[in-house]
Amino acid sequence: MTSENTSDNTQEQALNKTDVSGCTAEFPFFGAKYPDARCIDGYLHDMDKCDENGNLYLMDESYPCPFCNREEFIQQQKDNEEDLEKVSEWINYINSKYNLQKVYQRLVDAGNGDCMKCAIATLLNLKYEEVPHFLEFENPNSGMINFMLDKGFDFECCLYNYPNSEYSTIEKLKDFKGINGLFYASVFSPKYYKEENGIEGHQVTHAVVINKNFEIVFDPNREYKNIKEYPASDKLGYNGIKNIYLFTPKVV
Ligand SMILES: [Zn+2]
Repeated sequence: MTSENTSDNTQEQALNKTDVSGCTAEFPFFGAKYPDARCIDGYLHDMDKCDENGNLYLMDESYPCPFCNREEFIQQQKDNEEDLEKVSEWINYINSKYNLQKVYQRLVDAGNGDCMKCAIATLLNLKYEEVPHFLEFENPNSGMINFMLDKGFDFECCLYNYPNSEYSTIEKLKDFKGINGLFYASVFSPKYYKEENGIEGHQVTHAVVINKNFEIVFDPNREYKNIKEYPASDKLGYNGIKNIYLFTPKVV
């Protein structure tokens, strides 16, 4: 057996393993416009470099994964004297475009929907089962904040959108980095919004994931996939975003 065969077998085993410590992210990295890199055990492999059986070749150099092997990845970028600001922008872009494991709602209900659970699961790349149904807690918001704390994120503050008011803080979003550039936010529920109550009155809210530009990059409700505008976005601006919970990675 040649050494190349051995490495192919190792690669194949790695690909078939279900308990890989890597995140199995796939995205463009080795020069292609399509996802040509895949994370296996924390390192990126070029999916275009494989034999006729689809087995990947071992890479000559090691490429740490920017998501599950972040420290090593950043160190390599530093060693290569890359512009770290640009690198972090690239990570954010790749994350929202290719890496988000979207977790969709299984309960759509005015009083007991699971949009909050699904937005947090998506934000942290967790599975549906790994995140509590916060609405079952006595105080859902503090339940969410405690859960985030457990996962290594401090709750900074909540930003509010009050049109034309000095109490509006939503603009401060630009000072924060979020989680891979993404944030947990609320909009008015497209399904339950009551025009007659107005933007100041009682409304059912709905959890989504947004980026720094106030773009809604993920809505956990599949029915809203092609939604053009969220309720009252003409009055609220910011694509109808009402508030944003700011979480930052805990400093150890
Ligand atoms: Zn990874």
